[in-house]
Amino acid sequence: MNRLAAKLDLPRPFDIHELCGRIGAERGRPIVLTPFPMTSLGPCGLWLAGEHADILCFEQHTSVLHQEHIILHELGHVLHEHSGAETMGQLFPDLGGETLRIMLARQHDTFSDRAERQAEDFAYAVLARASRASGFRRVLEA
Ligand SMILES: [Zn+2]
Repeated sequence: MNRLAAKLDLPRPFDIHELCGRIGAERGRPIVLTPFPMTSLGPCGLWLAGEHADILCFEQHTSVLHQEHIILHELGHVLHEHSGAETMGQLFPDLGGETLRIMLARQHDTFSDRAERQAEDFAYAVLARASRASGFRRVLEA
C-alpha cells in the first residue's frame, strides 16, 4: 500500500472534490480541478504548480471514474513532491489551449519512470480504499 494514500483521511462517501479541498486546506495551497479536452495531446492529466495553488487539469471527455483516476494520479505527483511540474505565477485563469499544449509536451518527459509508478500506485491505493469505504460515490461535476 502506498504510504501517503494509506494516511489520507478520505471523505465518506468518497468525493474527489472534497478530498482535494481538504488537502489544499491542510497544505495552505488550494488544489484547483480543471477539466480540459486533452485527448489528442497524449497525457490525460497535467499538474501546474502555480504561485499560490496547484492546478490539476484532467481530460474532460472521459468517464467520471477515469477522471477520478487521472486526478488522483496528478495528486500523487503533488503529494510525493515530484519535481518536474511546471512552475509559473498567475497563469490561471489565462491558461490558453496553446500554452497548455506546449506544457503538456514538456511535462511528458519531466517525470522519471519511478515517479510515474509512484503516482499510479497512489491513485490505485486511494481508489481501493475509497471503494471499500462506501458503495456511494458522488457524481463528478465536470
Ligand atoms: Zn504522471
